[in-house]
Order: sequence, then C-alpha cells, then structure tokens
Amino acid sequence: MIIVMQQDATKEQIEHIIDRIKDLGYTPHPIYGEKRTVVGAIGDERGKFRLESLASVPGVDAVMPILTPYKLVGTDLKGEHSVITIGEHTVGGDEFMLIAGPCSVESREQIITTAKAVKKAGAQYLRGGAFKPRTSPYAFQGLEEEGLKLLKEASDITGLKIVTEVITPTDVLLVAKYADVLQVGARNMTNFSLLKDLGKITKPVILKRGLSATVQDLLMAAEYIVSEGNEDVILCERGIRTFETATRNTLDLSVVPLIRKRSHLPIIVDPSHATGKRPLVGPMALASIPAGADGLMIEVHPNPEEAFSDGAQSLLPDEFSELVKEMKKYLKLAGKRL
Ligand code: PEP
Ligand code: MN
Repeated sequence: MIIVMQQDATKEQIEHIIDRIKDLGYTPHPIYGEKRTVVGAIGDERGKFRLESLASVPGVDAVMPILTPYKLVGTDLKGEHSVITIGEHTVGGDEFMLIAGPCSVESREQIITTAKAVKKAGAQYLRGGAFKPRTSPYAFQGLEEEGLKLLKEASDITGLKIVTEVITPTDVLLVAKYADVLQVGARNMTNFSLLKDLGKITKPVILKRGLSATVQDLLMAAEYIVSEGNEDVILCERGIRTFETATRNTLDLSVVPLIRKRSHLPIIVDPSHATGKRPLVGPMALASIPAGADGLMIEVHPNPEEAFSDGAQSLLPDEFSELVKEMKKYLKLAGKRL
C-alpha cells in the first residue's frame, strides 16, 4: 500500500505514520518528493485493511494499493527516475554511463592497454570479467582474484571505474572489495540467493536481463535486490533468445522506453552480447540513445582475433573511439553527456 501524505504534512506527522506502519508489521519505505512525501508499506497483503485505516490519521491524504508486483522498483511508489551516484559519476540523470572493455580479463598487458584506450576514447567505466559464467565448463572461466587485482591496477592507472561480474554469493564480498559496480550476468538473473546478498551491500549492481526473461521477470529480480536494502540497481538489456539465429541474440530495444515507464531504475544496453557481431554493435549502440538508454556496455579488445572469449563481437580500440565520436551527436540530441 502507499500512504500519500498531504502537501503540508509535518515532519512529526510523517514520522508518526512511519511508526504506525512498523507497528502494523510492515516495512516503511518513505520517499521524500519535492511537493509531498509518500510512504510505501511493504509486507503481507492480507493485512492491508489495517493500513487502510491510516487514511484517517492527520497529515494523510490517501491510502492506495500498489498495483504492480514490483512494488519498490515500479513507478507507483516512486515516480521520478533514480539517479545513482558512482564516485564522481552518476547514472540515470544527464550523464550517460559508458562502459567498455574486454569480455574477460586475460593478462596485465591486455587489460591495461584496453583501459588506456577506452579512457582516451571517453568511457568512464572499464568492464572485464574475472569470473566468467560460460555456457561450457570447458571454456575459459576467468582469472578470478588475480583478474580483480589487474582491474584494480588498470583503474588506478586510468581513473576508470570498474564493472565486473560476480557469479556466486560466496564471492560477493571479494568482488565488492575491487569493483565499483557489480554485474549480475544474464545466466544468473534468477539466482535469488545471489540477488539477496547483493541487496545487502552498498555498491551499485548492474542486473542483466535473463536469456528468456520477460520485463516482469527482470523487474522482479531487481525487486529482490532493492527489497534487501540496496536501491542502486541498474538494469541492462542484452538481447533475448528468439528463433533468429542470424544474430547471437535479439536486441529487444523496445524494452528501453517500456522500462522507463514502468520503473524508476536506470536502464543501459549491451549491444555486444545482443548482436554477437562486430559490424552490428555500432548501429545498435547508437540506436539505444534515442530509445532512451541511460548508458551502454560495449566489448572492446586490443586484439579480438586472440581473445579468450567473444572476439567476434569485440570492437578494436580505434573502432570504439570512432563510435564514441558518433555517439556524442546522438547524446546531444537526447540532452545527455558523457
Ligand atoms: C558479460 O557481460 O560478460 C556477459 C557474460 O554477458 P551476459 O551475462 O549478458 O551473457
Ligand atoms: Mn562477453
């Protein structure tokens, strides 16, 4: 349920409502808007008639149900878009989040060369998997903690923020020690114990859409993280499985404007995994901007032919740099900046 306070409600009246919500066994989620405060009451729906009686408390304007199952990440409770702060950067507002780097961290030279190149081109974040969720158990699984250390070194040299994947609850604290943003891969979108643990940390999380996940599945996965206390979730569209085999996945760009209506969380696009093909990455990256994306994640490798994973979809540093130049024109039209 949502308790909508009157515009002139006092601080004491708001605090009183928060206490009453707790007394009734619900978790209060106050949202202090510019004009008025609304307080979400999250908990067992069966006792909602008791919350309805709060409508008669001084300072309360209305009590109404939250209609979507994703109560905290939906727009019923919070209408304004969330702006997430990551060091000196933000995502969800005017600043466009540009993440670039190899699929996997392979060596010191590879990651540092790539970091310097993507930084020069204009990216603010370096990506690179140290723990890789591969479809085959025989494929390269990542350098693990050694990879995290190399990412940290690349970050110290370039100032880029680090985005890297965590694949198991056991590694959440280890990855959080090195990463600025933790990534949940498509194959782990429904790993609920991982999502719950990520809800308990204070670092932002990029949540990638599962291979066959609906928009509601994705938003419910985000709800798992936010309901544990971590509100800093960034959604990522990375293509879904369809009957089409000409591309690696099918980029469902329509979810970008759709999710911007249904959720206040930022949404970014990964055109690399969505298409799987280098010539398609640039056009789909650019198309994401007018669609309303808050950022892009793009695979870049200094020598894609020798990449341990995803060479075919990785841009060369020069190609990435050209793409960023092109991107800037679209960002200007969209009222965004790098
Ligand atoms: C990745 O970004 O490294 C990755 C494995 O992507 P996805 O989870 O979207 O397949
Ligand atoms: Mn990859």
